[in-house]
Amino acid sequence: MLIDSYDRVVDYLRVSVTERCNFRCQYCMPEKPFSWVPKENLLSFEELFEFMKIAIDEGVKKIRITGGEPLLREDLDKFIKMIYDYKPSVDLAMTTNAFLLKGTAQMLKDAGLQRINVSIDTLKPEVALAIAGKDVLKNVLEGVDEALKVGLKVKANMVPMKGMNADEIIDVLEYCKERNMSVRFIEYMENAHAKADISGMKSDELLEILRTKYSFEDNGFDGSSPSHYYTMDDGYKFGIIEPYEDDFCKKCNRIRLTAEGNLIPCLYFDEAMSIRESIRKGDIKGAALVLKEVVRTKPEKNRWGGEDGEISSRAFYETGG
Ligand code: SAM
Ligand code: SF4
Repeated sequence: MLIDSYDRVVDYLRVSVTERCNFRCQYCMPEKPFSWVPKENLLSFEELFEFMKIAIDEGVKKIRITGGEPLLREDLDKFIKMIYDYKPSVDLAMTTNAFLLKGTAQMLKDAGLQRINVSIDTLKPEVALAIAGKDVLKNVLEGVDEALKVGLKVKANMVPMKGMNADEIIDVLEYCKERNMSVRFIEYMENAHAKADISGMKSDELLEILRTKYSFEDNGFDGSSPSHYYTMDDGYKFGIIEPYEDDFCKKCNRIRLTAEGNLIPCLYFDEAMSIRESIRKGDIKGAALVLKEVVRTKPEKNRWGGEDGEISSRAFYETGG
């Protein structure tokens, strides 16, 4: 079992399979980065799988595939199937912008994927264009329909921003509710790569808007999920991710692996250790030692909203969010 210095059990690995993306979301990758990771530094699916086996053997129970946009990587279904065949009880999920989901959902489900989280920031085509830098909404919504049709469980993520999609919070919730999908509103997390003038919304502002239409009960946190949950009178549950609250970190059970093999103990910080050399040399023990060291050095909490005004230099498209 992997246990960090604050007695948190780490059993959740998020794996970014590419930093590239077909969107240019304002809060994540508004411009094409100056340079991409050189191709030779990217781990192949076979190499990534070698590390997945180590992590699973050490106690990881949940693996989420993310990116950049994971569906840009060819043969993703084969990678999913490798993990599924190794240990079918692993909870296999993916976070995607859904643009390429329409043609791939069935294949991913057949390979062993169980759940997806999809970014749905808006239901208006022109706002989707403004947020993602291209006309994406039709493909995204068709992708969601397809995923539901093939039986994947779907959750939506929305990052509400003032002057952009703040007036759609209730519409996005209703869209999800009609489809029996839960929704999580994610407070915008400032970072050095995002567009400078974004004005995110905090949980109390979101709740104020939601209270104009619904009444709901505060359920607090549920297990190790970073979401603060609320249940509406009719039983529908929604979540808010509040990284500016310390509670976000108290039950954190996750670490992240980038596409080039850097293991990251906390989304906020730059610290990382590479497993690439060990994996490429076939040094299983060495890679397992790096994993344990990363877990041991996991910080107690992030520094979003820190008093010194410092902002994270980590790119979400690199860590996978
Ligand atoms: N491309 C996929 C997607 O967009 O769902 C997966 C990668 S994306 C980096 C993962 C998640 O990070 C998305 O839900 C996205 O909304 C979230 N995200 C990215 N930048 C963010 C920021 N600055 N603040 C809050 N959430 C952010
Ligand atoms: Fe791409 Fe996801 Fe980042 Fe948007 S949030 S730019 S879809 S990686």
